[in-house]
Order: sequence, then structure tokens, then C-alpha cells
Amino acid sequence: MNGHPDKHPHSFRRSWLEVSLGQIRANYRAVRSVVGLSVDIMPVVKADAYRHGAVAVSHALEAEGARWLAVSNVEEGAALRQSGITARILVMADFLPPPGALNEFQLTPVAHTLEDIATLRTPYHLKIDTGMGRLGTRATPDEIVRAIAAGQAELEGVMTHFASSANYESPQTEQQIAHFERVLEALRAAGLGPRYAHASSSIPVAYRRTAGWGNLVRPGHAIYGYVSPARGAAAPAPVLDIRPALTWKASVLAVKDLPTGALIGYGGIHRAARPMRIAVLAAGYADGIPHRLGNRGQVIVQGKLAPIVGAVSMDLTTIDVTACPELRAGDAVMLLGSEGGVSIDAQQMARVAGTISYSVLCGIHARVTRVYVD
Ligand SMILES: *Cc1c(COP(=O)(O)O)cnc(C)c1O
Repeated sequence: MNGHPDKHPHSFRRSWLEVSLGQIRANYRAVRSVVGLSVDIMPVVKADAYRHGAVAVSHALEAEGARWLAVSNVEEGAALRQSGITARILVMADFLPPPGALNEFQLTPVAHTLEDIATLRTPYHLKIDTGMGRLGTRATPDEIVRAIAAGQAELEGVMTHFASSANYESPQTEQQIAHFERVLEALRAAGLGPRYAHASSSIPVAYRRTAGWGNLVRPGHAIYGYVSPARGAAAPAPVLDIRPALTWKASVLAVKDLPTGALIGYGGIHRAARPMRIAVLAAGYADGIPHRLGNRGQVIVQGKLAPIVGAVSMDLTTIDVTACPELRAGDAVMLLGSEGGVSIDAQQMARVAGTISYSVLCGIHARVTRVYVD
């Protein structure tokens, strides 16, 4: 090494994300324009903001007016607080944090059982299992009222989570809303009505299922520019004007010509049917490219779609660039994003890979560095 930091080999990027904080903020405003001013918004920034980077995303959202953020666990909340976030932070899915952590990092806990309520000394939100069968109490409204009345801390919010809100053929969401309303009614009747009632993630916001909104909504996916398609003839059209905030790029390590009949990659699962030019990308399944995209997926090369050929390897992916004669080693291609009128988003990638867009986004490995753009 000659000591010049700009010559350091690691300044070469194999694969990286460009995250538009302006688009994150625009997506937040789109949620605001749908829910109006009487409903508060608690963006969900768990899993490192669906891999967009929780610290940068949270600061952008705070600047846009967000007064609440939701994370899954104390570590995520503590990291945000240590980065200077002043918004309220709800810890949705952890063990009840020790009082020390709650005070030190000013985190707001979620109680998931009636026993939790008895141990709390700070304002909390109570999760009701209204039928999802995951976290939350399944106690009766009377039992819940008694436990809250006997507790020492303030019940600030009551929440639930829907299991099937995109499915308009299922009665499950209506049943969950009815159950939630019964609990809220019992609390109000006992003079224990909470300041916040919240139940809706992105989907009930996007499809305007106002009965599920309460006075606070918890969008995650929508903040990053995505809404899952709804199912059923009665499904309304989504009303949110949002766009993906993330572009995923990879560098070309090598470009080479293969003769007819050449086999490509592990298992030789692709055979060149004609003379073919391939590019080897510096990203593989260790970076989060789904292995199932082998011989199936596509990437964007200079504004054109180029097929993935052969198996996706751990650190490398091969693509057919016969139609892109100008591509050179060192150039960048797009795994997710849009260019020249073509685009690939996480939903399209997920469909081809047989998974869901959430999993594609969260599956982007931490070693893929992030660059923030306007
Ligand atoms: C993840 C999560 C959300 C956000 O869901 P999206 O579908 O990403 O909007 C909301 N509430 C809870 C409890 C969650 O776990």
C-alpha cells in the first residue's frame, strides 16, 4: 500500500444502495395526505428501516414531522436515540425492556400480556391479539379493564395488528376490527380510554380501510414506496401516491465472450445457444440476490433488461449482455431501480424468486453499503 486513501482497493464498490431520502419524505407526505390531520403517523423503521438505514431514514422522517417511530426491539430503539432522534419510539415486539433501558433511551414499551401491565412503571401501549394469533393478549375485555385499573403505569395506547388486510375475500379484518372495538368500548366505559388506538399498517392505509385506522397508523412498506396488491373482487384501488426510494446497483467485474455451447456457472444450468457476451457482476446471494433468480431474473443494463444466466453464486452473478456491446468492466448495472423507461422493483423481483417484497428488501445484506441521495 502506498498510503493514499483514495487508492485503497476498498474504495471500489462491489454493490451498493442509493436511498432517496427525498422519496422517503414524499412517501410520508403521501400517507399524510390520505389519512389527514386527525390521524397521527408512526412510520415503522424496524429491520434497519427495511434495509434503507434506520438512522438516516428516521432523521428524514422526523424532519418531515413524524412524532412517533416504531421499532421491533430495544437495540433498534437505543441506536435511534443515540443518533439524536427525539421522536417517541415504540418498541413493538421485544421482551418487556428493563426499566433502566426504558429510562436511559426514553423508549415506549408494548405490553403483550396482563402480567406485563403489573410490572410497568412508565406509559405503555397494550397489544391486543384480535385474531392474528401472534403477539398480544387474548384476555376478555373485562379482564383487560381489571388489569389496567390495577396497574400503576399509564395506558397510553391500545394496538392490534391485522393478519389478512389485503384479502377482501376474507372476513378476518372485519372480525379483528370488531374485537378491537369491543376492547376499546370496555376501556372507555371504565374511564380508561387511551390516548391512542392503532391497528393499521400500510395496506389499510393504501386501500382506505378507515375503520381500522383509529387515530394513529403504522405504515412501514408504504414509507419505502410499496403497497402489496389486494385480493378479491371487492378490493378497491390503492390511493397512495408513492414510489420506491431505493436503487440497488452492482459493478461489472468482467465482460467476456462465450462460444455456442459454453456452459455458465455452477451445475452448468445455462448453455449458450449462440455466441454470447456475458458480464460477471460483483454481487451474489451473500449480498441478498435471491438464489432462485438463477436463469430466471433480470437486471437493468444501460436502460435495457438483461437476463440472469446460470446460477446465482455467493458473490457473483452472470448476465447475458449480448445486446449491450458498450458495457465494460467497472460499469454499474441495476438490480433494483428504473432507468431508460424500464424498471425492476422488489415486488417484481420477489414474484420471480417466489418470495415477498418485504423479504427481498430485508434480505439485502448489511455488507451492501448505502449512499444517500436527494
Ligand atoms: C411491520 C409492522 C408494521 C408495518 O407493516 P407494513 O406492512 O410494512 O406497513 C405495522 N405494525 C406492526 C405490528 C408490524 O410488525
